[in-house]
Amino acid sequence: MSGDSNAAVRDVVIVGSGVAGLSAAVYAARADLEPLVLEGPEPGGQLTLTTDVENYLGFPEGVGGMELIQRGKEQAERFGAEFEHGTVEDATLEDRPFELELADGDAVRTRSLIVATGASARWVGADGEDELMGYGVSTCATCDGAFHRGDDVLVIGGGDSAMEEALFLAKFADSVTVVHRRDELRASEVMAERARNHEKIAFRWNTELLEIHGSREEGVTGATLVAHPDGHPTEKLEETAAPRAASEVERETVDVGGIFYGVGHVPNTDFLEDTPVELADSGHLETLEGMTTETAVEGVFGAGDVMDPDYRQAVTSAGTGSMAALDAEAWLEAEAARPELQPSDPAPSV
Ligand SMILES: Cc1cc2nc3c(=O)[nH]c(=O)nc-3n(C[C@H](O)[C@H](O)[C@H](O)COP(=O)(O)OP(=O)(O)OC[C@H]3O[C@@H](n4cnc5c(N)ncnc54)[C@H](O)[C@@H]3O)c2cc1C
Repeated sequence: MSGDSNAAVRDVVIVGSGVAGLSAAVYAARADLEPLVLEGPEPGGQLTLTTDVENYLGFPEGVGGMELIQRGKEQAERFGAEFEHGTVEDATLEDRPFELELADGDAVRTRSLIVATGASARWVGADGEDELMGYGVSTCATCDGAFHRGDDVLVIGGGDSAMEEALFLAKFADSVTVVHRRDELRASEVMAERARNHEKIAFRWNTELLEIHGSREEGVTGATLVAHPDGHPTEKLEETAAPRAASEVERETVDVGGIFYGVGHVPNTDFLEDTPVELADSGHLETLEGMTTETAVEGVFGAGDVMDPDYRQAVTSAGTGSMAALDAEAWLEAEAARPELQPSDPAPSV
């Protein structure tokens, strides 16, 4: 590994500055562990993409995503947490202290590590999504569904996540239209059946979202959809060698008040791929069984969306963030109390 390996060894490094990383930082800092938080490519994490958070405990009027994050960072700094703009590219976890290689070539060494790198929702690539994400376009129905009472909304996707989003949204919206690029769902039969039988849910087969209309002031006002009888219509539009296929693509603009992406999440665990930390098939960090944030590697803990494919909420991420810091603190204390190893002792298992 390159970089300056002679840097001081930290007690705790927290990778990620979303709500899980911040909560871990508050707890670790209050335990006098002087944590270093590596903020990563998206300082503040996913909550910085949203306007109002109405389901975080303690804010009866709701709170802006950015404000919640800013306040969390100030709270952690108040107790001595240090923040750096670092993105981890590689990790050596076979030996202790652990070593992290950052994108700028620097190295960070630490006795314990909290991985709070989150999971990025997949985006569709439609025109207008960059501007309107968080302003009527969302990747989380549980978070933003209640803002769409009485609206007509679209759900993009055909798997279990899309069906979950559609069924949840049907509680609030007047109508929910599932837009799927093929002519059959990938979702499990149970979920598909529930969605098909719901009176508020309709389907647009062989159809994709091309463009989102609206503004940050008004929110989403409409969407341009494209359809092709053989499915995957945007691919057909791009196939310049097959102009006939492109000419069969039909466009339609519909009035909608919200668009939800249900095309899955990608956990940010690339830098752990060649380490002894275990990853699920989905890429999520595996923690040990039971109520713990410990992983297969002693001294490495997971918190937030990176280890949670199910709940994916700010409040649950804050919860597992605090657990990771408490677990790390207890582990460091136990390590410090361990008798010094003698040269003849076997190496500690990691
Ligand atoms: C549009 C939107 C609206 C939402 N609304 C709500 C809501 O109203 N209520 C609610 O409870 N939840 C909401 N959520 C979900 C909530 O934001 C997430 O559950 C929460 O942010 C997860 O926190 P986290 O800290 O685990 O991960 P994230 O917030 O994803 O943060 C991950 C952090 O890891 C860093 N990182 C990633 N890779 C690396 C690396 N290699 N090296 C260093 N750092 C790295 C990133 O820079 C980032 O700081 C919403 C999500 C979205 C996208």
